[in-house]
Amino acid sequence: MPLALTNAALIDCVRPGVARGASVQIENGRIAAVSDRGGSVPKGAEVIDLGGAHLLPGLWDVHVHLEWPRVPSATVAELTVQYAENAARGLTEAGVTAIRTAGVPHFIDVALKRACASGRMVGPRIFAGGWFLTTTAGHALGTGFAKTCDGPTGFLRAIREQMENGVDHVKLNLSGGVFGPSWDRHWHSFLLTEELEAAFAICRQRGYPVVAHATNPDAVKAAIRLGAHSVEHGYIMDEECVALLRERGTWYVPTLGITHLTPAQASSAWEARWVEQRGLTPDIVKRAEDAAPEHRRWFQRALAAGVKMALGSDLRPLRDSALLEMGLWVKDGATPWQALLAATRHAAELCGARADLGTVEVGKIADLIAVRDNPLDDVHHLRSLLLVLKDGRVVADHRRADAAA
Ligand SMILES: [Zn+2]
Repeated sequence: MPLALTNAALIDCVRPGVARGASVQIENGRIAAVSDRGGSVPKGAEVIDLGGAHLLPGLWDVHVHLEWPRVPSATVAELTVQYAENAARGLTEAGVTAIRTAGVPHFIDVALKRACASGRMVGPRIFAGGWFLTTTAGHALGTGFAKTCDGPTGFLRAIREQMENGVDHVKLNLSGGVFGPSWDRHWHSFLLTEELEAAFAICRQRGYPVVAHATNPDAVKAAIRLGAHSVEHGYIMDEECVALLRERGTWYVPTLGITHLTPAQASSAWEARWVEQRGLTPDIVKRAEDAAPEHRRWFQRALAAGVKMALGSDLRPLRDSALLEMGLWVKDGATPWQALLAATRHAAELCGARADLGTVEVGKIADLIAVRDNPLDDVHHLRSLLLVLKDGRVVADHRRADAAA
């Protein structure tokens, strides 16, 4: 049955601003018509009067790991159940309608992607990357989602296994991190030239985008020059990195939450509560706070330079992650409009889905959310979630709870 969403304050993520009194018609899961003022409702259509609420594209998070909480001894079966719940709640409780995974063990993300796409499970659209590929003495070794590879042959084999298991992209770890043991620091680079060249060559040959964890100028430049699709983190960069990102059109996903969410930096009750649950050790808090000012500077520099950027949080769980990260973008100087585009249109473009998703336009798949308050006034208003639609179907309706609150 066709569906009409009427009386909406539309933020289509194409034209800046809000179009009040708009309506959107949906047929067969896609947007059939968008009218700025009223517009006729097709015969037999189900009508949802949004009562002036804000209607916008569903949110994306393009840097996601699905474990929450981390249970060191969890079996694959337990992880699968946990990830499915995390993904489903991200969709229904935060309006995250699509994610790109950046390290998930046992190809659980590929299985979830298929289950969600077939309609057997309610969950977000998933662009799956499988394992996080690193080296012995690499990064993220304690997480359960890292696979160690050494030497060109080690990388070739692991990447081919990823392909065989149905990933959409390859996550490659080029350098250290903010979280980790003393020999895993973000200014350390891990791969030898021959390992890098082999890993990128096989991805290029088979047409798989490389999602490059790169955290220092050496790693960022190597990733861009070898053809990475996106650079993740970029805690330390230099002007040459920014110029190369622009020149090659490489995406940058800054993951501000990694360095910006510590007890001393939390600036709202919600952030403070989340940070407390995060439970970082004093050593990691110090590492994050030491890294934050420079991270912020390169985020601001890239934003000002017009580097292509999309929103990826690297935070958990999914019901908080994108919303926290968007708040940090704004705290660091992005406008709510820039943060919203990063989490919708630009994220969809990064995932190669621009033709079908990321904006409210005729012909696109109807992955949409409605929120009570205007997120362009305050990006945190995205938390006043009323409705979530995926493929044109309502998958979460919080209107009654909102009215009662
Ligand atoms: Zn990550």
